[in-house]
Amino acid sequence: MPGTLRLSLRHTVAICGLKGREPLELGSAMLAVVGAGVPLPLWRLARRLRGVRGAYEAAFTQAPQGVLVVDGRSLDIVDANPALQRSLGYRLAELRKMPLEQIFSGDGGPPEALLAQLREDPPRLMIETGQRCRSGRFLHVEISGYRLEVGSRILHVLSTRDITMRRRVEAQLLEKQQHLDHLAHHDQLTGLPNRLFLAAHLPGAIEDAKRSGNMLAVLFLDLDRFKHINDSRGHETGDKLLKAVAQRIRTTTRTDDIVVRMGGDEFIVVLKTISSPEQINETASRITEALAAPVLIDGRPLVTTASIGVSLFPRDGSSMGELLRQSDTAMYQAKDRGRNNFQLFSPVMERKLKERIAIESSLRAALQARQLDVHYQPIVDIESHRVVALETLLRWRHPALGFVAPQRFVAVAEETGLIVPIGEFVLERAIEDSARWRAAGAEVVPISVNISAVQLQRSDLPATIARLTRTHRVSPTMLQLELTESTLFERREGHNGESSQDAIGRLRELGARIAIDDFGTGYSSLSYLKRWRVDYLKIDRSFVRDLVTDVSDLAIVEAIIAMARHLNIEVVAEGIEGWQQLEKLRQLGCSYAQGYLLARPVPFDLCHRYLNGQPLDLTCQESVEQALGATGS
Ligand code: C2E
Ligand code: MG
Ligand code: MG
Repeated sequence: MPGTLRLSLRHTVAICGLKGREPLELGSAMLAVVGAGVPLPLWRLARRLRGVRGAYEAAFTQAPQGVLVVDGRSLDIVDANPALQRSLGYRLAELRKMPLEQIFSGDGGPPEALLAQLREDPPRLMIETGQRCRSGRFLHVEISGYRLEVGSRILHVLSTRDITMRRRVEAQLLEKQQHLDHLAHHDQLTGLPNRLFLAAHLPGAIEDAKRSGNMLAVLFLDLDRFKHINDSRGHETGDKLLKAVAQRIRTTTRTDDIVVRMGGDEFIVVLKTISSPEQINETASRITEALAAPVLIDGRPLVTTASIGVSLFPRDGSSMGELLRQSDTAMYQAKDRGRNNFQLFSPVMERKLKERIAIESSLRAALQARQLDVHYQPIVDIESHRVVALETLLRWRHPALGFVAPQRFVAVAEETGLIVPIGEFVLERAIEDSARWRAAGAEVVPISVNISAVQLQRSDLPATIARLTRTHRVSPTMLQLELTESTLFERREGHNGESSQDAIGRLRELGARIAIDDFGTGYSSLSYLKRWRVDYLKIDRSFVRDLVTDVSDLAIVEAIIAMARHLNIEVVAEGIEGWQQLEKLRQLGCSYAQGYLLARPVPFDLCHRYLNGQPLDLTCQESVEQALGATGS
């Protein structure tokens, strides 16, 4: 009997209007049962169907969600349940005359999104779109639909669900998420992206550069002496300066470059597409120039500079870690080269850095392990060849590296602050040794000790010297302190807010004498010399070396000696290696000399020959040198 039973359209819709798959399958199954001609008495089937029909009709009309029936071919609205009519504010008759896209469109998608899906005549569909109601109200709806074949007719039954509330909550959550994201990926103070942001974006930028065959540059920027500004002018000023700096860096870079504050006074700039190395130079110069102009903070100008290290992809590395490390290394190189400049990474820098790190860690141990020692080099009166003082020179016998020269480790010790305990060790050894010589009955000469600027800044040097000389009962007048010009003229505040000049003043009050070491290599400022009444000038070896052959060196040395005489300052010439140099210096009126020609630095045990103010026997100098071959001095 197939075909004799016809399900009304309303009936079928009701079947589909029920929740989930089952009613549809039930409906299909029943049709299939009928279609397959199962011997079921027609009257019983009809009765059953009438019962089913009633239930399905109720489900359609009473369903809380909107249900819409659309003709599969014309895409006209065929039916809409009361819930949908209520929600839309249109009656069925009105709806039947309205194009579908007039009701369901918007919500970000194309207005015809629903129509486009229906045109494909899919067995099922699911779409999120907007619903425009008569009142002008706009709802976000989720539409799920099923395709039905009812006889020759194709219908799509669409069930709508109001997801406006869900969307609102989602939007709020998204906004919150974005806010949290922003907080997590940005620096509170400057508003710049932070280290996490960099970690999230730099690898992608490297990948992009790899794909496009471009270069990419990582600039590591560290403000010079920021800690000093922070300490002396207060954190609030420091913060304002950081903000201004961030702003200036941002304005000197392109919008697609990444500018990040890594923390403290460190910034990273990633130049995403570099066509030539000159472009890096340009950007780095632009940044240094932009920073060089004074920043007005609370009406007061503040000058800051930056040291910048640059690493390049692919030349210096292909991972974020490598590029950051290399740019950091290059930044340290920029600091070493006097700050306020930029340096491109080179493998030599890396080797130096590794060596430096090795030195730093073993230097700490060296102090405890008594690997540090002090040697003494005489300072000699040029006329009489009498030893007038002994200069202490630090020596480090490293178990693996062998003899490490002070030039290689003093800078590291200064950077790490280790120079404070090391400097105290040297001072104590010098004072102690002086007391031992005296105890042995020798007539002692003053000891000259090299003092680093960091010692003056980070420790109470006058107090240390007062304590040590008291302990070993040595007069502070037996001490000469060798400071470099930069230490002497440093305007920076040091220990307890005291300036270097004040500390030097207290050292002079104790009775210690002050010498300017390596004179000529720094400021060489006459006016300062006058003001600070130093006792000695030590002319740097670089002027003495070619004194006999280079007329300009001769002129400089001559000028220094004349000037010192005028200011009542004694002159010591450093690094005398030849008789001609010594003779020239004598002719020029230089009082004292120091150098291998006269005496090399020697350990404590070999110093007795330099005590008692006796003249040096320069004829046996060679045998001394041979004896010293084993000491490495
Ligand atoms: P400086 O104070 O100018 O010491 C003179 C340096 O020149 C010493 O090198 C000495 O060995 C070397 N020298 C002396 N005469 C001659 C010569 O005729 N020819 C040549 N070529 N060199 C000569 P050294 O011992 O390697 O020390 C280098 C620098 O390390 C010192 O220069 C000083 O600035 C620093 N230094 C050494 N000991 C200490 C220390 O205890 N504390 C601090 N802060 N620095 C130190
Ligand atoms: Mg010296
Ligand atoms: Mg010197």
